[in-house]
Amino acid sequence: MTLLSKEECVSQVLKAIRSVVRTPTATLHEPTFGGNEWRYLQDCLDSTFVSSGGTYVERYESELAAYTGSPYVVAVSSGTAALQVALRSAGVESDDEVLIPALTFVATANAVTYLGAIPHFVDCDARTLGLDPTALRIHLENIADLQGGKCVNRTTGRVIRTVIPVHVFGHPMEIDDLSEVANTFGINIIEDAAESLGSTFKGNHTGTFGLAGVLSFNGNKIITTGGGGAILTNDPELASRASHLSTTAKIAHDWEYVHDEIGYNYRLPNLNAALGCAQLEKLPDLLERKRRLFDLYSEAFAMIEGVDLVTEPPGCASNYWLQTLCLDESIREYRDAILHHCHSAGFELRPVWTPLHWLKPYWTCPKANLPVSESLYRALINLPSSAHLA
Ligand SMILES: *Cc1c(COP(=O)(O)O)cnc(C)c1O
Repeated sequence: MTLLSKEECVSQVLKAIRSVVRTPTATLHEPTFGGNEWRYLQDCLDSTFVSSGGTYVERYESELAAYTGSPYVVAVSSGTAALQVALRSAGVESDDEVLIPALTFVATANAVTYLGAIPHFVDCDARTLGLDPTALRIHLENIADLQGGKCVNRTTGRVIRTVIPVHVFGHPMEIDDLSEVANTFGINIIEDAAESLGSTFKGNHTGTFGLAGVLSFNGNKIITTGGGGAILTNDPELASRASHLSTTAKIAHDWEYVHDEIGYNYRLPNLNAALGCAQLEKLPDLLERKRRLFDLYSEAFAMIEGVDLVTEPPGCASNYWLQTLCLDESIREYRDAILHHCHSAGFELRPVWTPLHWLKPYWTCPKANLPVSESLYRALINLPSSAHLA
């Protein structure tokens, strides 16, 4: 294999991007409107129910339930709030440890921390980019004991209550293998499917495998409510607890204010849900465009030595939320030059998140060996991925 020089590599990458993305100022990801957004928003304003009352929230929840196949859906104000409420509803308490991959958006770790629990970082799989179940098993065998059905970290003495797998950039992680490991160690699963609405693992929607899953409808996700999130679960008790916690833990009553624990003001406003209903109608079309964009990039990058596009894992359908280049070890040192040149040319490329164990607030958290996460950090580059590009 002939090694490309830095200059050749950078210019070939830029040329490939230009052949797909005609807009010279392409941002990483923009929302796509053009369906019933104006109509539903107008209707919402006319009804005066722009906040906690109104019909769109329940409608959005039931449409999400139908789409994902999740029996219960609780819509909340963000994906981060969804994670926090799902974790608390699943019994995560302060001083528990929660296993999360080192490569994820910081919100996954923040939600754990908001509950006084402690993120415990584990490594990723180079193929799926998600948590690696085999590495997790080996790590737990080394550091944990089962005590009365609970998984206890031998070093810290804390209970390892939960694991949060993340479907990175929309690509489903190996959830079957993870479920086996989690079962063996008495750990429950809360799936962070914030990026993977529309993605399936062996035919089932991501976010429906664990005790609960969460979605995000932030402005940069595949569909948006402006800001918003949802908790998916097939457990009616968890659903009602999540709904209760996200609406200030108020006991239903026609006029009295009685709250039986400290809840949150995390309910999704009706105005945002109205936008969500319109966006969800467009999701099949957006998924098709995302896949077409992947095909266009695949073709454009096919001939560049050492540069691959991240593809959906076998048996899975990815929503291809963010298109991602993976640089071969031999050219990883070119990453910053590629980022720099493409930005100068008006294309917004991004490296993957800084591994969370390198962030100051998380320096002291427990962690496994993280060679794959650290190596992927130098290898991955997100490309402009808006649906309108295809
Ligand atoms: C976006 C995102 C979140 C948080 O969602 P918000 O709606 O922005 O709060 C959590 N985890 C991952 C992996 C995300 O990409």
